Amino acid sequence: MSRVTTRLFWMVRSAMSDWITFPDGTRGRLSWDGEARMAARWQALLQACHGQDMRPHCDCRWQGDPVPLVVRRRVRQQDGRPVEAFHLARFPGQGDWHAPGCPFHDPDPARSGRGGYEAGVIEEQADGRLRVSLDQSLRIMPRAQGEVTPRAGREAGAAGQGGGGQSQMSSLGLVHLLWERAGLNSWSPAVGRRRLWWTGVRQALEGAASAILPARGVCLADRLAMLGYGDEDGPALLRETARGCGQDWRIMLLGVLDGIDLRQGPGGRFTSVRFDGAQAYDLRVTGDAALHERLARRFPMAMRALGLARAQRRIRVVGLAIASVRVGRDGERVTVGCRVADMVLMEVMPVTLIPVASSHELAVATRLVAQGRSFIKPLRFDATRDVVHPDFVLTDTGDARGTPMEVFGRDDEAYAARRAQKCAYYTAVYGQEHWWSWNAVAQPDLIPDFPASVGGPPHG
Ligand SMILES: [Zn+2]
Repeated sequence: MSRVTTRLFWMVRSAMSDWITFPDGTRGRLSWDGEARMAARWQALLQACHGQDMRPHCDCRWQGDPVPLVVRRRVRQQDGRPVEAFHLARFPGQGDWHAPGCPFHDPDPARSGRGGYEAGVIEEQADGRLRVSLDQSLRIMPRAQGEVTPRAGREAGAAGQGGGGQSQMSSLGLVHLLWERAGLNSWSPAVGRRRLWWTGVRQALEGAASAILPARGVCLADRLAMLGYGDEDGPALLRETARGCGQDWRIMLLGVLDGIDLRQGPGGRFTSVRFDGAQAYDLRVTGDAALHERLARRFPMAMRALGLARAQRRIRVVGLAIASVRVGRDGERVTVGCRVADMVLMEVMPVTLIPVASSHELAVATRLVAQGRSFIKPLRFDATRDVVHPDFVLTDTGDARGTPMEVFGRDDEAYAARRAQKCAYYTAVYGQEHWWSWNAVAQPDLIPDFPASVGGPPHG
């Protein structure tokens, strides 16, 4: 094959790269884990090769060989009995051996806000798990006056305390890390409507959380409960996690939100937080009145959307709440009460759950999905606005680095210098023809055509 043909072949293969080949030659799709009909079969495939010398591999090739993957096993208590779950992970340090379209591809940290952290904030362990240094303590420290309240989350875009980088990860950075590790910031048409099945989303997030260590000897999955509609195991998992936290640890609640409102109670005003599907969990989440104000100031786009009737919301809002938790009883029912210490919000597209940071980004992402494109949404983490990272990266254009996409959403003088700097950067690194941009202020109704995909139908 000529070089060009080889390259096309590789890109077409990698565009469909959620196929996994098992040691006995069986093939299966990573996405089966997120499908009600296929999840049991997928788990059986992983179980069969857990702990074996022969490894499964994806369709990527590194120096001519398939790139092996490791099967991880996790056991947790569920209603008093141990339940095991398996998931696939890449080997440490091999993130860039995988092609951009592969779910195991680890984007260059310089291409997302992850590059904004100081060394040591995210450390990859020898077993591939990530030790992260959070700015919120999950451990509840008692003191004479009562519980120590963790300090409120850092304002978005504010500078870190230490020199050029961020010296700790905020709760929002943690949501971005979970989303990225669970593959929820990348999209291909093959994903279809799978992300509407919350159980599959929860399992992907749980796999990601089981490889994140927020404190010595503590796995994030043991402190994280995920809430969503129609998840049969969800309520039992919440109760189990809540009991595990007890009075010494804060719980993290993660899910799509239904509403955040100020209410009047007997003791004064308070913030009521409602997750989608929370009725099935017998869960009550509250915070002080100032929580509502903080969230409205820091996440105006998300709070505006939550203020609309459900049918009028163009985005969904994901919330992560860090809270003290109490398990109680109401007659026969076990109830879980949470008092929020800190909370962050993230705006996502309704069906794909791809994060979007503005209405312009929503317009671009919506068109990309409608045109059947494959892409990654690089996340900001805690980076300041000085870190150059693209708003989206197309992964189906045949460029092994992906094709960066930039949405310019402001037109003031301060921003013009920033825009010029970004243009110069992309042109120098990728070349004039190999990146895409839209000046959404100058031409609000004219989204330029996207760069063509390899092997796909022409788009206009
Ligand atoms: Zn791969």
